[in-house]
Amino acid sequence: MSRPLLMIPGPIEISPAVLEAFSQPPPGHLEARVVEAFGSALERMRRVWLAGGSAQPFVVAGSGTTAMDMAAANLVGRGDRVVVVKTGYFSDRMEEMLRRLGATIDAIDAEPGDAPSPEAVAERLDAGPKAKALFATHVDTSTGVRVDPAPLAALARAREVLSVFDGVCATGAERFEMEAWGADVYLTASQKAIGLPPGLALLVASERALAAREGLAAAPPMSLDWLQWRPIMQAYEARRPSYFATPATNLVMALDTGLGEMLAGGIEERFAAHERAAERMRRAWDDLGLRPVPVRRELLAWTLSALWFPDGVDAALVGRILREGVIVAGGLHPAIRTRYFRVGHMGYAATRPEMLDRTVDAVRRGLAAKP
Ligand code: PMP
Repeated sequence: MSRPLLMIPGPIEISPAVLEAFSQPPPGHLEARVVEAFGSALERMRRVWLAGGSAQPFVVAGSGTTAMDMAAANLVGRGDRVVVVKTGYFSDRMEEMLRRLGATIDAIDAEPGDAPSPEAVAERLDAGPKAKALFATHVDTSTGVRVDPAPLAALARAREVLSVFDGVCATGAERFEMEAWGADVYLTASQKAIGLPPGLALLVASERALAAREGLAAAPPMSLDWLQWRPIMQAYEARRPSYFATPATNLVMALDTGLGEMLAGGIEERFAAHERAAERMRRAWDDLGLRPVPVRRELLAWTLSALWFPDGVDAALVGRILREGVIVAGGLHPAIRTRYFRVGHMGYAATRPEMLDRTVDAVRRGLAAKP
């Protein structure tokens, strides 16, 4: 049997061109082709992030968690007040990172499948001493809940509070307009909608965010420090080789290829492809009688579906779907972990209806199969 289709919410199926760009003997980080790909990838990140010229993209070896740590450690110090919009497992992780930095945390909770309202966020921003930063997860992969970052960024901007969005399960698929919305950090990882193997932490920081790093009393760990990395990124963007810590060169080559593919039809078309893929999946789940974990339609992410097990079905369904040739994911949110499963539909697969349909067929047969 051919290899199963990887339809979890990351890592994901990657395009043939990205696979080819990645699969070569490791190039040296000072080689001209790496310098060119690195510089071009940084330029393309600004276009995918819809970020302005004064914003700084960063590409470092690591995962989404590295990017989260980098954002937190460059902005927040001991005693700073921060507001965290909670939508699941990954906002819990962000809260814990901020706690370790000694921040005073004001977390706004929501039931699994729901998200705090912008009004609740505004109320919390206005209560107590001025906050330094607002943190939110664009799409929480544990619940399939998407928050709308635009009003949150606007609330933060109006109060001169920095806004940070975890886009690990969203960037390049869900609409995000960094410059127009006035957001300060948008971070992600290579293995989700960016469409690469795992191994890169990616983020773009606004001028305001970069200034906040300059104002920190205590420097972050060197490997996360924007002041260490910024001259390196500037050098590569100017097509000059540079070194601080060895970049993941195969992945940098693949990043330029992947971002190039994403931008080939324009970023708007990429967003639209994900919206269409999500609609296709929603209709299919409806037909199968599967209900989403997000409690309202506007909370449904384009990048993945989180679906309750129907009555009489449990996590063994995931194994039965695998027997039908498709890998989907079990639950992750600790409060509901055993009661639902998750299907990714982002990146390359979102542009390949036959992969989406093969996934739906496997779920249908998995549901029909005897336990
Ligand atoms: N944030 C979100 C929203 C995620 O989905 C993930 C990974 N699933 C992370 C952060 C952490 O990323 P990583 O596993 O690459 O460290």
